[in-house]
Amino acid sequence: MEVLYSSTRNGERKVTASRAILQGLSEDGGLFVPDHIPALDCTMKELAGKTYQEIAYQVMKLYLTDFTEEELKNCINRAYDSKFDTEVIAPIVEAEGTYYLELFHGATIAFKDMALSILPHLMITSAKKNHVKNDIVILTATSGDTGKAALAGFAGVEGTKIIVFYPKNGVSPIQEKQMVTQKGDNTFVVGIHGNFDDAQTGVKMLFNDRELAEEMAATGLQFSSANSINIGRLVPQIVYYVYSYAKLLEEEKITDGEKINVVVPTGNFGNILAAYYAKNMGVPIEKLICASNENKVLFDFFETGKYDRNREFILTSSPSMDILISSNLERLIYRIAGDDAGKNAELMAALTRNGSYEITEEMKAKLGDFYGNYASEKETSERIKDMYEDTGYILDTHTAVASAVYKKYVADTGDKTKTVIASTASPFKFTRSVMNAIDPKYDQMSDFELVDELSKIGNVEIPNAIEEIRTAPILHDNVCDKTEMKAVVKRFLGIYT
Ligand SMILES: *Cc1c(COP(=O)(O)O)cnc(C)c1O
Repeated sequence: MEVLYSSTRNGERKVTASRAILQGLSEDGGLFVPDHIPALDCTMKELAGKTYQEIAYQVMKLYLTDFTEEELKNCINRAYDSKFDTEVIAPIVEAEGTYYLELFHGATIAFKDMALSILPHLMITSAKKNHVKNDIVILTATSGDTGKAALAGFAGVEGTKIIVFYPKNGVSPIQEKQMVTQKGDNTFVVGIHGNFDDAQTGVKMLFNDRELAEEMAATGLQFSSANSINIGRLVPQIVYYVYSYAKLLEEEKITDGEKINVVVPTGNFGNILAAYYAKNMGVPIEKLICASNENKVLFDFFETGKYDRNREFILTSSPSMDILISSNLERLIYRIAGDDAGKNAELMAALTRNGSYEITEEMKAKLGDFYGNYASEKETSERIKDMYEDTGYILDTHTAVASAVYKKYVADTGDKTKTVIASTASPFKFTRSVMNAIDPKYDQMSDFELVDELSKIGNVEIPNAIEEIRTAPILHDNVCDKTEMKAVVKRFLGIYT
């Protein structure tokens, strides 16, 4: 059955999946949502034993209904290949009786690779399907992780170019090194004098610059976005929840139909929303446990029904979850409002106007699938230390937030349901925080000494992504003022007017 997509703020206009992927965000500022969440058309038993790529096809074909079998399989096979350092793509590790679903075996050792390694292929296929002759130019502002994952995904993909702006003094040394060593003629990395907001604002202005759009069109180019609200990022994330259930079933860790809980360390609400979609497709999931760090706007929302971003922004050791506006939550709000775009648009307008909104009791009653809690910085580092001392397994800071919240959930409820925790980053990505949690003595060491020590005490190989940047040459040394972003973009694209 065909699935079409409409905006969470206007139900009138419907577009195909490929159009929604090309466009990213709807014109009215809303997010594209499927007109229904499709049910899986095979049983979990049938999926048990299938490869990641096979399950990806079974899931994604139900959403991307205007892609042919050949097109979709081609995208999947190009994405989930030897870029991942394990053949199974997303291995499951059992520790303390809980299942850690490791989503960090891709090119940049964080879970964003799961979607950003396939998005470029979905995008160029969408362009072809819609007879778009232009090359696609991805424009992104990053506070660190997304930029590198997008660069790695789009590097060398024919028919695309990617430009990433980052705050010159606002990312970690490792993150900067990862970006400025990026290979590929179609990649362009620029540090700006300013903070992340300046980069973000500049990028939004370029997206809305009509004159620039015309000049680009004349050269055969058009912008698109790799932002986490793109359904081309959401849909691939549903796959690993289906896969993890099938895998646990295959390995007889669970019985057919047995419910599991899922814990997700959450920032923008994209990853946990994918788990919610998986549940709605028929995967036997009981609770969706939403784990926040000290920026606990989502915990407060699940407690009170009031979303309120008016609060201090806290810098934590899990920076990819330091977020006060969880964009993808809008898709959940739309759903619990009974797929009512008008009602959702009102709440989102209140968020823009006042920084807050409150849902009705009726909507709140539909949040029973979720449990929210948060972990403090202290609880997070204690969790890393305890897990290491108990089992030898080393968690990254984001996954440790999830693990700590899961402990609170069990203490609160006594629930013994088997549980999968989404493990979103390799500990090698946040080495200093991780090693300091295990023993403060490590703070003396340099970044790469820490890498070697982590490998030794955890008995884990140093991932390629880290090995590479140790010696990689710097290929991008562009720095500009925020007022110069447009000129810099034009120069890279070869537009001289
Ligand atoms: C982006 C990210 C998250 C948060 O995921 P959302 O989909 O934004 O909720 C968690 N952990 C890591 C390591 C990330 O990079």
